[in-house]
Amino acid sequence: MPVKVRFAPSPTGKLHVGNVRTALVNWLFAKGQGGQFVLRIDDTDLARSTAEYERGIEEDLTWLGLVWDERHNQSQRFDRYREAAERLKAAGRLYPCYETADELDRRRKVQLSRGQPPIYDRAALQLSEVQREAYEAEGRRPHWRFKLDGRRVHWVDLARGSAEVDTASMSDPVLIREDGLFLYTLPSVVDDLDMGISHVIRGEDHVTNTGAQIEIFEALIALGWTGALPGFAHMPLLVGADGQALSKRLGSLSISDMREQGYEPIAITSHLGKIGTSDALEIAPSMAELGQDFSFDKMGRSPARYDTADLDRLNAQALHAMSYAEARGRLAAMDCDLGEEFWATVRPNLERFGDVAALVRIVNGPVTPVIADAEFAKVAAETLPETIDGDSWSAWTGEIKARTGAKGKALFMPLRHILTGQEHGPDMASLIPLIGRERMLKRLSGETA
Ligand code: GLU
Repeated sequence: MPVKVRFAPSPTGKLHVGNVRTALVNWLFAKGQGGQFVLRIDDTDLARSTAEYERGIEEDLTWLGLVWDERHNQSQRFDRYREAAERLKAAGRLYPCYETADELDRRRKVQLSRGQPPIYDRAALQLSEVQREAYEAEGRRPHWRFKLDGRRVHWVDLARGSAEVDTASMSDPVLIREDGLFLYTLPSVVDDLDMGISHVIRGEDHVTNTGAQIEIFEALIALGWTGALPGFAHMPLLVGADGQALSKRLGSLSISDMREQGYEPIAITSHLGKIGTSDALEIAPSMAELGQDFSFDKMGRSPARYDTADLDRLNAQALHAMSYAEARGRLAAMDCDLGEEFWATVRPNLERFGDVAALVRIVNGPVTPVIADAEFAKVAAETLPETIDGDSWSAWTGEIKARTGAKGKALFMPLRHILTGQEHGPDMASLIPLIGRERMLKRLSGETA
């Protein structure tokens, strides 16, 4: 079966680092195997899904380089879900239930008080035709449950190894709500079969689902539905730097916010692709290389630690390695393109791309010089070479040292302070040819320039 995977977000919110990690791992796995990546929008819940969130998902994935080979909307495929439901109903695997939420709740409480597991008791299977008609006459509409086999469902999980779910310990899942809404469980199985999905890769919060869904896959296939049972991989969930589950905080870690904060897409993908694996947490040269490196064999069963400090470090690494050719367009768009020398000089000092604007100001001004010792500044101005190039710095500072006796930090720090107005910044030897002699002289004389 050719490798074909899918990322299946519901367009009911913004993409965050948790679901993007799922998208990324799907993409990396597919690309590493020469396979295809499908974007499936799980929008059966028409009331909660919005076109705006859907656009946001596409924009975020595109920005991250997670391009898809195919895309689908579940909202366009209701006919197929109805067809599957009819087959399951005819085979007695999907049965109508009339309990209200309150009734179910009361029964659960009774079960719990007796020390029994709160599993649906299948009372609806005992209803006679007459009782069902009576409910319908009352105006009740049924919801539909899938009748589980109640067995140990086993699969070999790409991420977890041998995996098992005992469906006897679960309630029969509701596949269709009383208002006719298809919950996610059945449409997902129908799509995976119809679209030829070879592997379902998702978070470990779906492990129990997989037990029920494998039963649904097998039931449909046994009823003649075309398609094959996919393989499964369930990834350990993300935890924060404090080791606590990230699930509650994911809402504040949206990709669109990160884009606005100036993170590089390759830093985000390198970070999310490497955490929780045995690989070192370093920037990847490209998405293609990240894909070649990826393997479920490197993924442990312990949770993946999401620490913003690591992301910041990788982001800086990405900028420090960025070529002028790559940076040029963005520099120009910010009115910050001062040429290749400038880029090579400032790039080691960047943490976010936007930092470059402040470095342009150091070169082109205005800089308000900080002069602690006027005599020192005077000597520096007098000894300034006639032309400033890449070798000027050592000759010039050698001269100042000879005249003032200042050395080390006492020599370099005042010069940086005067010429840039700052305590830290790019390498002075490379910076001064960019600032130029004229502006240096002004700053040495205390003028804002
Ligand atoms: N829409 C589902 C979710 O976001 C998809 C899960 C799956 O990958 O099957 O949880």
